[in-house]
Amino acid sequence: MIDEARIWQSLAKASPEATRIHEILEKASLAQGLDADEMASLCCISDPEQLAALFDTARRVKETIYGRRLVIFAPLYISNLCANECLYCAFRAKNKSLKRRSLSQEEIRREVDRLLEQGHKRVLLVAGEAYPRQGFDYVIESIESIYDTRRGQDQIRRINVNVAPLSVPEFRRLHEAKIGTYQLFQETYHRETYHAVHTAGRKADYDWRIGAMDRAMQGGIDDVGIGVLFGLADWRFELLALKQHADHLDSEFGVGPHTISVPRLEPASNSLLAEHPPKPVSDLDFRKLVAILRLALPYVGIILSTRENPNLRRETFALGVSQISAGSRTNPGGYAEDEVFDASQFSLGDHRPLDEVIRDITSMGFVPSFCTACYRLGRTGRDFMDMAKPGLIRAHCDPNALSSFAEYLEDFASPETRAVAEQMWPELLSSLEPSARLRAERQVEQIRKGERDVYC
Ligand code: SAM
Ligand code: SF4
Repeated sequence: MIDEARIWQSLAKASPEATRIHEILEKASLAQGLDADEMASLCCISDPEQLAALFDTARRVKETIYGRRLVIFAPLYISNLCANECLYCAFRAKNKSLKRRSLSQEEIRREVDRLLEQGHKRVLLVAGEAYPRQGFDYVIESIESIYDTRRGQDQIRRINVNVAPLSVPEFRRLHEAKIGTYQLFQETYHRETYHAVHTAGRKADYDWRIGAMDRAMQGGIDDVGIGVLFGLADWRFELLALKQHADHLDSEFGVGPHTISVPRLEPASNSLLAEHPPKPVSDLDFRKLVAILRLALPYVGIILSTRENPNLRRETFALGVSQISAGSRTNPGGYAEDEVFDASQFSLGDHRPLDEVIRDITSMGFVPSFCTACYRLGRTGRDFMDMAKPGLIRAHCDPNALSSFAEYLEDFASPETRAVAEQMWPELLSSLEPSARLRAERQVEQIRKGERDVYC
């Protein structure tokens, strides 16, 4: 699936020659994507004018396809038990100083209650690669508990899942449990580096991991999220490999990945590797890689987590990021129990509570979206992409983003956040197409009159 030789060839012949870069950015601005050689050329850019042109094109493509929306979610760590030895991760089996824990269903419900109390509607269920006695059933039971939990009229409306690779029958069960997206990061597509940093356990098998998305699709999950842990191998190599993985899924199943996650290595307890990434990615290169991904795969969501600090998050939103986590904890039990103990997966760069993040992004002119309409209405996989590519999906996403934001403002926002939203509201509305705007105004009105979960 990954042709390393071809990637190195593309990178070797790439150059930031002015006319070529100009042509590539012209093509990219049509939002039809880029090929590997074109991506490789953009990777070489360092001239400030060319960089500005790259960022500007990415901003325009992002705005055309996603408008001002930023989808909000929170990770929910249910267990940090793990049998693998990923040298960068605090959950690895040999890290004996980590406090191990898998949450009971009751504890999971308590976590969900706290997330609902803040206003979250979407969670990403996360676990290490070892389950308590019930095995994989534990994940299915946990999904049921999360969907079942009510706080007044609120409940989690979409669960995405980031757990170890599964077999086709297990993926089928995950699909039947009504998950949204199945996410799994290859960490590094560079096979030699992969083997050097995954030294034991099932995860040491590169092929089992890279085949996971094919098996997920065969099991009926048509929204899958891929990703790379940046800092392990050359980021340029990883970008071109992500593109090959996306193309593979597209040609095999008629639909590419729904999302790409772009975590960067962060310090983790007892991990020298995490402290000293072998191929560190500078902030500037990080912004470049987000922009290049946005141009290469215009319809794929890009997910940025709270690993990054608020400033860098602010800078990358406009360049192509479409989903962000907020108010996150990476230790099981971290939302309900304020006690801080050594059970987290890695250090966070953004510690702000959800309300503060919402206020910040609203003041920057973005619309925080808690929308979960698509997968509940069956707009997934190819059906979603068939609407996204001709630009039809915005007619749904824009109004839904505003009405879900209005619901947050009514039920959860602080007075300060409400004040900022009120001030920005005319600008947010005016960024919508006339028909989407009408729909948005209608849906927001319904929310203000007391209806909830209004979407189209
Ligand atoms: N255990 C499963 C796995 O490895 O795929 C799923 C959950 S794992 C907890 C989620 C992701 O956390 C990993 O895929 C990896 O990319 C990321 N991660 C691990 N250690 C990290 C670190 N030190 N800094 C940033 N991200 C890290
Ligand atoms: Fe386990 Fe996942 Fe951490 Fe690896 S990255 S040690 S598989 S939790």
